[in-house]
Amino acid sequence: MNAVAELARRAGVVGAGGAGFPTHVKLDARVEYVVVNGAECEPLLTVDQTLLIRDGERLAAMLEEVRQALGAQEARIAIKAKHEKAVAAGKAAVAPYPALQVVPLGDFYPAGDEFVLVYETTGRLVPQGGIPLQVGVVVLNVETLWNLAEAKEGRPVTHKWVTVAGAVKSPGTFRVPLGVSIGEMLTLAGGAGVPDFAVLNGGPMMGKLVENLAEPVTKTTKGLVVLPRLSPVVQVRARPLAGILRQARAACCQCQECTDLCPRHLLGHGLAPHKVMLAASYGGSRVAAPVTAAFLCSECGVCDLYACPLGLSPRRVSQALKEELARQGVKNPHKGAPAGVHSWRSYRRVPVARLLPRLGLKPYARPAPAREVTWEPEQVTLPLKQHVGAPAEAVVAVGDRVEAGQLVAEIPAGKLGSRLFASLSGWVAEQTPTALVLVRRRP
Ligand code: SF4
Ligand code: SF4
Repeated sequence: MNAVAELARRAGVVGAGGAGFPTHVKLDARVEYVVVNGAECEPLLTVDQTLLIRDGERLAAMLEEVRQALGAQEARIAIKAKHEKAVAAGKAAVAPYPALQVVPLGDFYPAGDEFVLVYETTGRLVPQGGIPLQVGVVVLNVETLWNLAEAKEGRPVTHKWVTVAGAVKSPGTFRVPLGVSIGEMLTLAGGAGVPDFAVLNGGPMMGKLVENLAEPVTKTTKGLVVLPRLSPVVQVRARPLAGILRQARAACCQCQECTDLCPRHLLGHGLAPHKVMLAASYGGSRVAAPVTAAFLCSECGVCDLYACPLGLSPRRVSQALKEELARQGVKNPHKGAPAGVHSWRSYRRVPVARLLPRLGLKPYARPAPAREVTWEPEQVTLPLKQHVGAPAEAVVAVGDRVEAGQLVAEIPAGKLGSRLFASLSGWVAEQTPTALVLVRRRP
């Protein structure tokens, strides 16, 4: 394992943009390009810009180290051109390094989808069902790189940068200890500005509905978006699956709008959401190509939140099919097939300027600046699985004293996973099969 991969492993670094893949595994490679994802793809979120503006030089120095460790000829930081301050900060920071550059992106969704990003920054096409490594590229999120810079200075991952936006009184981007509750995050942002609200963990397009405000912030919580419960963005997630499937059967007119705008389809992948809808509606073989094509869906939400004129949800149908296929032990058969970019792709990318009004988000497109707060929670809940792979194994027990930054859970031997560190100094108050609870005062 190279030096930066080992750094990531020791410090518990995982993909901070939402994916949670253990970074040490990703960095244990030789590639031609390192791409830093600063696209800030989800509307309203501003963590990447905040870090680029605040800490551009540290990020560039760390990126150069990553580039050298992976033997890459170049490293490219992708930032939307409209984020002028972040672009300027990035360009100034990379100036001393000839092999680093900033690549400005257009303002479309989903510019930050890993496959889209690789194509936009390198011209290379990740095969369907594949990963960027297959085309000589490693993609890192901005905060992941920031966490590597922290690790270099001896600090493991104990905190998370989170934007709290939408219908809150004071939107902001905060750095908080892992394990604070989502309810506490809303308090930091002044509380909800509407009486009947829902919270999306991860942003309006791909975020998941938060069921309980006691849920903890984890290594992959990038944004919390508060919206009125009746917002279409909330409703498309809240509707029961049975109703979604019934609607698909009764109302889908096979107009193909969802397919025409599907970002994965436009990259030439064998995913046609209108055919997924047809297959789900009328049954047939569970392993027929239109059904298993659901494996290729990135769940970006373009089809249900933007494309479909009838408000149907090929995304939810694809999610349901993927779950059902996984239950049956069916694996993705659509791997590595050659892909060719659709000739209309550049005209069919979804402009964010049109997306915001369509989602009813324009009133919430307000700045969410970095807000320096010292939030010292009395208690944190640390799930043992905050990453792709096996849950970490606790190395502390109830009643133990722990110091902030101390290792509390280790990667199980021989498994894919990530280490976990205490985010406050205090005591281990509780251990469940899935989490550790730490408290500041002795129980
Ligand atoms: S856009 Fe809507 S109605 Fe048209 S094919 Fe797709 S799901 Fe069916
Ligand atoms: S969510 Fe819809 S638009 Fe996005 S990849 Fe899946 S099918 Fe395509």
